[in-house]
Amino acid sequence: MILEDSVSDSRSLLNDRLHQLIECAQKSPFWATRFGNVNPSSFENLEPISKGEILADQARYKPYGKIPSVDIRKLVRLHQSSGTSGNPLVWADTASDWSRLLDQWDHLFGIAGILPADRFFFPFSFGPFLGFWSAFEAATRAGKFCLAGGGMSSVSRLRFIEEHQISVLMTTPSYASHLAIVAADEKIDLVNGPVRLLILAGEAGASMAGVKSRLESSWNARVLDHHGMTEVGPVSMECPEAPCELHLLSDHYIIEALPAVGDFYGDLSANKVKELVLTPLSRLGMPLVRYRTGDRVELVEGRCKCGRTGPRLIGGVLGRLDDMLIIRGNNVYPMAIEDWLWLQPGLIDFQAKIVESSGLSRLILNLEFRRGLNGEKEAIVISNKFFDRFLFRAEVKSVLPDELPKTEHKSKRWIRHCP
Ligand SMILES: [Zn+2]
Repeated sequence: MILEDSVSDSRSLLNDRLHQLIECAQKSPFWATRFGNVNPSSFENLEPISKGEILADQARYKPYGKIPSVDIRKLVRLHQSSGTSGNPLVWADTASDWSRLLDQWDHLFGIAGILPADRFFFPFSFGPFLGFWSAFEAATRAGKFCLAGGGMSSVSRLRFIEEHQISVLMTTPSYASHLAIVAADEKIDLVNGPVRLLILAGEAGASMAGVKSRLESSWNARVLDHHGMTEVGPVSMECPEAPCELHLLSDHYIIEALPAVGDFYGDLSANKVKELVLTPLSRLGMPLVRYRTGDRVELVEGRCKCGRTGPRLIGGVLGRLDDMLIIRGNNVYPMAIEDWLWLQPGLIDFQAKIVESSGLSRLILNLEFRRGLNGEKEAIVISNKFFDRFLFRAEVKSVLPDELPKTEHKSKRWIRHCP
């Protein structure tokens, strides 16, 4: 009975927040025009919106588009997406919106099992992307030790971790992997080091079994996946008791999984993989209503092993709807190739180039192997295994250690080249 009351209280709170969001959206010229004759109180009648539609508005009315629902002088925080698939999206917040985003992080830290004594390190240069700005400020607000590691070499960052007894590292999967390699070269002992938890975001990887287990053994620490978006905010955190299952912040978003338009996966009515559609309830200054995130997800409801209820993503974000490639007549999702590559023994990093000429696409895989391995031999083995798995040939090459660019931000592993 108590549980039912609390569920109904939480639904009523969610409805109040949605009502407040729609009221704000009606004050935005963009949304007022879009709602037209549709009654916005009937949420399901509102057409989901794509990133492209928002980008077009912002390109026309720089820099925020006609989306703000408030006087833009009230927008005090600004972030923008990395623009990996086109122009960056610009998203700004009022002071109250920002404070609510920090509240969301309080919930995510709760899911991750952050302890009172935890000490955080953010080893990257703080740029205009939302990334971990909100996490940094939420952890600071919660009274945690927080260290920003911008403008430092990887070796200096590793020394910081030891000197300041860092227990929680927040970064991307590729940079965590790079730090582990540098630590091995520098004889820095991560296994007996102070880090107990890595919260990883910005790229797929932390929910891929191969990547997760490799990082967990290099660091002798738990790896938890997190995902969020600049235009939406922090969204999910992997459950420490259910690996590769991410709890969504269902008190802060209206969460929907809708059949994806034109998805490669065929019969969508029978398919569990859908597109995540989010309505963020914390951001009233620049509202978003029924935003098609482009993320392919498998959403489940019900009680988790940890006792939490509410929706979860199985396997994290499974891919993006806009990233399907046609190579030698095959429909290919880069994430499917990436998942597979990370399971190959000895592989440290890779870069994939799609070269288009005369209407034909070729895939070139530049692979970096662990020091001491014969790269050329390994490349031949992977080339044959790749053909068995994907039924088309990729041109597989071995590159020298450190030949591929290393970054603490999102790595650009997929490059399209049109000579
Ligand atoms: Zn759980």
